[in-house]
Amino acid sequence: MNESFHLEPGLPPITLIRRKNQRTMRIRVNSDRVIVSGPANVSMNRLIDFVREKSEWIQKSCERRKQRTEQLELLRKKYEGTLLLRGERKPVYTFPVPGIRKSRLVEHNHAIVYQFHPSKIRYDHDGVLFPEPEDIHTFYLNVAKKDLTSRFAYWSDRIPLQPGKLSIRNQKTKWGSCSRRGTISLNWRLVKCPQTIMDYIIIHELCHIRHFNHSRAFWKTVAQYYPNVSQARSWIRRRTDEIFSDF
Ligand SMILES: [Zn+2]
Repeated sequence: MNESFHLEPGLPPITLIRRKNQRTMRIRVNSDRVIVSGPANVSMNRLIDFVREKSEWIQKSCERRKQRTEQLELLRKKYEGTLLLRGERKPVYTFPVPGIRKSRLVEHNHAIVYQFHPSKIRYDHDGVLFPEPEDIHTFYLNVAKKDLTSRFAYWSDRIPLQPGKLSIRNQKTKWGSCSRRGTISLNWRLVKCPQTIMDYIIIHELCHIRHFNHSRAFWKTVAQYYPNVSQARSWIRRRTDEIFSDF
């Protein structure tokens, strides 16, 4: 059974969970609650003691998480009216088109234009007209199909490994993955990253066909094709939250 309680006023409630297949006690801090979990044979009192032992850490993590959310909110405000594409912020211009059947976003050199039927004007709470999230999503997916497919083909031709098919997906936390059968999945959000980052993720996943782990041998193979791994990884670390939090 799950139990919830409050540790401190101002902190999210703590939920205690016991799971059959879990071996150690763990803490996960989410925006709306803290989940403390342990193996099935651990007593609720032991879990509660564990929470008390770790209370300082829990408070700090909640505080960090709150700050991060506020920072992201500020970034969202700052970048309002733009979309991130291939590592660049592009302004979005809205353009009513009488007679258009389906609204859509079109990429131009320095901007993205949102074409929509004049009767469909809908302003958000700040009085700003911005594309509907589904239209933004469709736009990104179309760019992803084009860009990621072509980069994938480019690297598959140059790296002597035999990938299975490419699948473009909407993973919630991962940038990419490689299955035992060699199917490579790439997150469509990669189109928000500069091409060098798309390349890094594609090469990383392709190299998993040979090394199904993150061993030294794996990183050596990656470095053969992509020498600046640490640069790419630090870009990804800095920008992942921002990229996953907007659209
Ligand atoms: Zn990996």
